[in-house]
Amino acid sequence: MAFNLAMYPISYVAQYNPASGKWEERWFQADSITFDQLSKMSAAEQNDVYAKRNVFGLPLVNYTTQYALGCFEGMKAYPRKDGSLSIFRPDQNAKRFHNSMAGLYAPAFPEELYIKASIEFLKKNRELGYIPEYKAEWEKDTFAGADAVYMRPFMYSEGAIGVGISKAPYVIICATTVSSYFKGSNTKAVITDRIRATENGTGWIKCASNYVPSALAKKEAEEAGYMEVVFLDAKKRKYVEEGSSCNIFFRLKSGELVTPDLCGTILPGITRSSVIALAKAEGVKVSERRISIQEAVKKCVECFVTGTAAGITPIESITWKGKEYVFNDRAPGELGKRLQSKLKGTQYGTVTDVNGWNVSV
Ligand SMILES: *Cc1c(COP(=O)(O)O)cnc(C)c1O
Repeated sequence: MAFNLAMYPISYVAQYNPASGKWEERWFQADSITFDQLSKMSAAEQNDVYAKRNVFGLPLVNYTTQYALGCFEGMKAYPRKDGSLSIFRPDQNAKRFHNSMAGLYAPAFPEELYIKASIEFLKKNRELGYIPEYKAEWEKDTFAGADAVYMRPFMYSEGAIGVGISKAPYVIICATTVSSYFKGSNTKAVITDRIRATENGTGWIKCASNYVPSALAKKEAEEAGYMEVVFLDAKKRKYVEEGSSCNIFFRLKSGELVTPDLCGTILPGITRSSVIALAKAEGVKVSERRISIQEAVKKCVECFVTGTAAGITPIESITWKGKEYVFNDRAPGELGKRLQSKLKGTQYGTVTDVNGWNVSV
């Protein structure tokens, strides 16, 4: 199961007060409930649940619900071999969230507050027993089936009805326990005709609206028998950009590892930057550059996608203009496997964290 969909009972809510220039913080506690339990309730019962927990008295009609003016983060905390709990690179998520809010012309959430609230959030939910414990059996398949805390900090606008910009946004942190994101053995990808991001657009912002084209393209791909879509650039329809919610890497015959450079239409993934650092430390030649789909399918010997939810997921083939290009005989490549075991090992505490990426809770 990818997301177990039982949200932790304690949530964090802050709201920006434009008059004082301060963020006003609150904590909410509710009974934990799974989406499965919810789906079996009557509308009236569901209403009671929402009234108590998910909505927190937040405005229903606003820039976020009406116009998808909102941004979010996906961040994980890992139970570690030594029994501790660590958030992976929260400073990077804090910075990106700050940039996303600023990119939406909203008062940006301070990075120190983001990290402080995230730590406190985990402590409070841990006290209630909601944090998964480390299990030695996870080591058998290099943490492929391991649990982690998936944290979802997000911006939510104040009440509003006309199109506009949020001046007094909320920042909410909620979380749920997750295991692996992509299910099953199909790891085929297909090039989509849809466009995710354009020059001078919002591709670099982790904003809600970007996910509409992604979700549509992913549904079309899944219906056609693929696991994932790959987007090309909007202008020339030539260069590879990224997946629906993950960055993409190609290992070429020459040994070079290529990922598209951050040109404004690519989401600056934290897994992406971690993978670049880990590969460079191994002596691999890593290039952040434009790569055409033509070059990719011709020279690629190994392909994988990266993201907090996806980790490092191998891609067995890419279908472009009706033709399937298979990599490494459909088997996960050696470099991806090695980087995955370094990354997961660093996160779960079986490999020394030489980069100081873990922040202990
Ligand atoms: C979040 C996201 C990623 C991955 O970023 P990570 O920080 O590695 O989780 C990649 N692409 C898109 C479009 C995303 O929204």
